[in-house]
Amino acid sequence: MSASGLAVSGEAATAAGAEPLPPPPSPLDPLETTSHRQHLSADCGDIYWVNPDAVAWDHRGWHDDRMRIYGAMRRTQVSASRIHAFMHCRDAHHVFREPTTGEIEVRPETCKDRFCLPCGQLRSRRIAQALEVRMKPAADRLMFITLTVRGLPTDTLAEQIEKLKAAWRGLRKLPGWSNTVSGGAVMLEVKWSKTAGGHWHPHYHIIAEGRWVDRAWLKAAWYALTGDSDQVDVQRIDEPGKALSYVTKYASKPMDTSFTRRRWLLDEAMRTLKGVRLCSLFGTWYGTPLKEESEDDETDVLTTWVYCGSTRDLECRAERGDGEARNILRGVERQLALRHALTERCRRPPPDSLPADSDT
Ligand SMILES: [Zn+2]
Repeated sequence: MSASGLAVSGEAATAAGAEPLPPPPSPLDPLETTSHRQHLSADCGDIYWVNPDAVAWDHRGWHDDRMRIYGAMRRTQVSASRIHAFMHCRDAHHVFREPTTGEIEVRPETCKDRFCLPCGQLRSRRIAQALEVRMKPAADRLMFITLTVRGLPTDTLAEQIEKLKAAWRGLRKLPGWSNTVSGGAVMLEVKWSKTAGGHWHPHYHIIAEGRWVDRAWLKAAWYALTGDSDQVDVQRIDEPGKALSYVTKYASKPMDTSFTRRRWLLDEAMRTLKGVRLCSLFGTWYGTPLKEESEDDETDVLTTWVYCGSTRDLECRAERGDGEARNILRGVERQLALRHALTERCRRPPPDSLPADSDT
């Protein structure tokens, strides 16, 4: 099992600027062969040698966009440790062993970066699971609400998000809202609209618990708060499962194809969305633990198991002749092969790229 499927050329790194690069590949990485393909990313000007067989399965479907995000991270000078974690997400696994049966369990080492597609999808699923405790008892009182602001080509994304946040704060203070809605979850989605000269188009997707919010009232109130936008939508949730899928879709979705393939827009989004909450709770839902930041709960079920180290550690030990490490690695290979076979059979392959929503 390889620790890394990606490598960046030293020359390209020097030319690209002062940002430190991820460490060079380990000597345990597979030697480059003719199966390696040289990939030139026009977006960031760097050259990558990619072994498609060594790239983690979850990342294979969005390789080009992943490289675009890597380029934006370099250009916007995010920390070297963040870039390293992003580029090595799911390269290695953490290995656990049940002490009595010897059963092996493996869990991927993830970057948890908000711009990482599989990590974002995992985070959204976890937020949806956490919110089930709120949504189930309120199944007959849930609404989908969408609030948007009107943008101009001269508006920055930061200005647009601030405008959206201010209007949202104002809306919750109005009796027409607070007497009708008791609580809910608000999720930020950012798009780039090509209409009217092109502009940022952030909007809130809200799951609200309460009595029906009159659409005409909401349009008038939102127009008064934003000064120029009456773009709102309200729908009653008629099937409980729809609320979960709605949260799963929007709870952690910072990227959209409307801007990820435009270099300057991606850079602006990378800078602006730093620290911006993508999902938050309000009213009676406030305080529900989302586990958005802590992704360690997957290992909760393994508390009685023995931690054997990462696959990188085990590979090092095996190289030095450690028979136990070799045995564990064989168990890991068997489990990963089985998991891969099951996944291939039961699940659709990863998306070809980022989810392609309609460009608004
Ligand atoms: Zn990741």
